[in-house]
Amino acid sequence: MTMNEKNVVCIQSSDARELHRAGWIIIDSSTIIENGYLEIKNGSILGVHKGMPKERSIDHGPGVLMPPLVNTHLHLELSALKNSLTVDKGFAFWVKQLLEKREALGEEKLIKEAQKAVRDLVKSGNLYVGDISTLGMIKSIIEDSTLNGVCFHEFLGSDIQSFFTQKNDAVSFSLAGHAPHTTSPQLLSALKKRTDLDGLPFSIHVAESDDESKFIHDKKGGWADFLTSRGIDWASWNIGLKTPVSYIADMGLLDPLTIAVHLLNVNDKDLETIARSKAKVCVCPRSNKNLHGKLPDIEKMIKKGIKPSLGTDSLASCDSLNVFDEMAFVQKHYPGLDPATIFSMGTINGARTLGVERLTGTLSKGKRAQFLYQSLTATNQKDLLERITSNE
Ligand SMILES: [Zn+2]
Repeated sequence: MTMNEKNVVCIQSSDARELHRAGWIIIDSSTIIENGYLEIKNGSILGVHKGMPKERSIDHGPGVLMPPLVNTHLHLELSALKNSLTVDKGFAFWVKQLLEKREALGEEKLIKEAQKAVRDLVKSGNLYVGDISTLGMIKSIIEDSTLNGVCFHEFLGSDIQSFFTQKNDAVSFSLAGHAPHTTSPQLLSALKKRTDLDGLPFSIHVAESDDESKFIHDKKGGWADFLTSRGIDWASWNIGLKTPVSYIADMGLLDPLTIAVHLLNVNDKDLETIARSKAKVCVCPRSNKNLHGKLPDIEKMIKKGIKPSLGTDSLASCDSLNVFDEMAFVQKHYPGLDPATIFSMGTINGARTLGVERLTGTLSKGKRAQFLYQSLTATNQKDLLERITSNE
């Protein structure tokens, strides 16, 4: 058990039978028990009950027991870049600085800061993550910790050979394509085909920057020149008069196993395409605000039937990897969203996005006995969810 400064305790239970009592238990955002207890055994939740337990129990207090948080999209290997990049000189400048500074820091420093970030995630109750790594140093750090989730090895460019020489050796290890404008359609299709074979999620940044939208629609501009200068021959890419979403839809990349990350530059038709495909969606509002000065239209996504999850992106574009902070930002900037929806985004929607909803996302029977206790007082269910999602 560990407690952080926000009074959150993470409980990852052993095999013994235990009863955990608290003032409130959130099974999911619409099923909340006042005064109840969790019964756990063999590392799983056996049941959730109302009232006081008759046997010996662990009484956590008047606060709330709830599912752990899920951070669907982050880049732990960029943790050493915290507070060291200029974010107000445009996205291209930010990417250039990022690559230079990451190179200059060296592997040892990147590993050390990633390890620290992992410890902070565990301490703050963010027990499930979808990590994107291009350098391949993060998987073993996650395996050595109590974090769970999916490690995505990310590819970009057009070198398809680099992908076929990789080993894919663990269930929690999947693949990601960087983005439609940075990665050749041949490589994206090969990555998607490979992850489909194992029924694993495939992650891709989509519709994040103006450069990306312009290149895919106009087939020219700064990004086209950049690719050409890097020797990447994009002449065969089937772009032009398309949006990033319609482009990857035409390529057959959108299905329930794909995680579309960002969706900042999208129109109604794009959102309908995503909703129809049942692709998963992850939004990173704090990172988007910092890097692009705008926010994804979460309300519209929900209206179209999408259930977005939350990611923080990396510490190179965001102050923390804590989904409590992301939920508080969403509560502040999206007054139309109710706290129950925001809580679901940080828990069950994230679990579904990463394909781990059998294990976590709610405190229902059969899920893993991993949960959080937050010390707080609340007058009713609405007040309770409001307090949690405002991170008071
Ligand atoms: Zn990212």
